[in-house]
Amino acid sequence: MGFNYSHPRWHKLRDLYRKAHPRCVTCGTTKNIHIDHIKEIRDGGNPWDWNNLQSLCASHHNVKGKSKNNPCGESGEPNDKDSHWYK
Ligand SMILES: [Zn+2]
Repeated sequence: MGFNYSHPRWHKLRDLYRKAHPRCVTCGTTKNIHIDHIKEIRDGGNPWDWNNLQSLCASHHNVKGKSKNNPCGESGEPNDKDSHWYK
């Protein structure tokens, strides 16, 4: 059981967070911003905790994802359908 990234509550939280923090924390761009969980949910992070979120652009989100072997797509879902999220 993974976190349900298609949950309407997550979409709402993500949109709110993106409005409040429109820039990538790494490079400062406002393009293709993804909302990332600082502490991964699988590592015990709270998916609903505002303080556990950060804005990352697509490329920096990818860097983080790849480093954890879990690249995520636009919506915050992993691109890899074999990911543990889908199991
Ligand atoms: Zn960036």
